[in-house]
Amino acid sequence: MSGIGPWELLIIGAILCALVGVPVLVVVVLLVLFKKKQCGQGIGTGTMRAALPALVFLGGFWALSVGVSAAGAETGEAKETPEKVLAEMKKELGDGFQYRAVRCFAAASDADPASFDRIAHFTLGDCYDAYEKQFFKTRPAQVYRVYLFKDDASYRKHAKELFGSVPDTPFGYYLDSRRALVMNIATGGGTLVHEMFHALVRVDFPDIPAWANEGLGSLFEQCHVTDEGLVGLVNWRLPILQDAIRKNELPTLRKIMTVDDAAFYAARAGNYAGARYFMMYLQENRRLVDFYAKFRDNFKKDRTGVRFAEEVLGRKLEEVEPDWRKWVMGLKR
Ligand SMILES: [Zn+2]
Repeated sequence: MSGIGPWELLIIGAILCALVGVPVLVVVVLLVLFKKKQCGQGIGTGTMRAALPALVFLGGFWALSVGVSAAGAETGEAKETPEKVLAEMKKELGDGFQYRAVRCFAAASDADPASFDRIAHFTLGDCYDAYEKQFFKTRPAQVYRVYLFKDDASYRKHAKELFGSVPDTPFGYYLDSRRALVMNIATGGGTLVHEMFHALVRVDFPDIPAWANEGLGSLFEQCHVTDEGLVGLVNWRLPILQDAIRKNELPTLRKIMTVDDAAFYAARAGNYAGARYFMMYLQENRRLVDFYAKFRDNFKKDRTGVRFAEEVLGRKLEEVEPDWRKWVMGLKR
């Protein structure tokens, strides 16, 4: 044998192990054994005996480093509480705001105390509980920041200062990279319920396609909460949908549900309204909760959701479509 010997390989392995852990250890041990075998010596008990202290050392070293990093990660996770996040938000926003921790949310607002109180209690409290009860089996382990700005000027100014860009919507949005819900609450609390769905569904059903994500989020932007959970109500998107149906411009349900996310967003208004009122149709038929759970739990069998919609309604979409359109046209604001 020439070049690097087995002991040198093991020493290099120890250093690499400190950096990248057990996969390197496995490779190094295999290399040592392979080299021995190549030289025609086989893997004798002498070799094994010689390598044993090094293996024990490396194994112990790896276990220690994994233990240390796991303990670090655990304490890091445990550290993020709504209270701790609130303290960070106070540093960002200062004294002109009120602060409150509700469920998994750290909320700040410069609106009047009564409005903040109402949103904290109803939206962040009751609506969150209802979402969890009806739909979500995986709870978020992280804290969400909720910024409730009192008017358009405050919303735009602070969004620019905090996140570096002026929002392209007057209502509010969810910034996934910062786990932040940013709202202009002068436009009402509906957008917050909508955006909360997007935030929470990322944990429960990360691959949910846009049509279902927007259909459910927008369904609850106008809602009330009963003992059973959230109930979506007719809202401003209805006339858009009725108009598109009247003009024969609405894509079929199958089309809305099977286009990719980019195409869904490109044809915004009609698709949003179509998806919203299809979710509402499922709700009215008492099939919505069942549909969501089936879709999430069997996503790999059909990534569009068509199959599960047909299963819960007991009919092909093409049979559902005329019935759904008739129901939509009969709805009143
Ligand atoms: Zn949305």
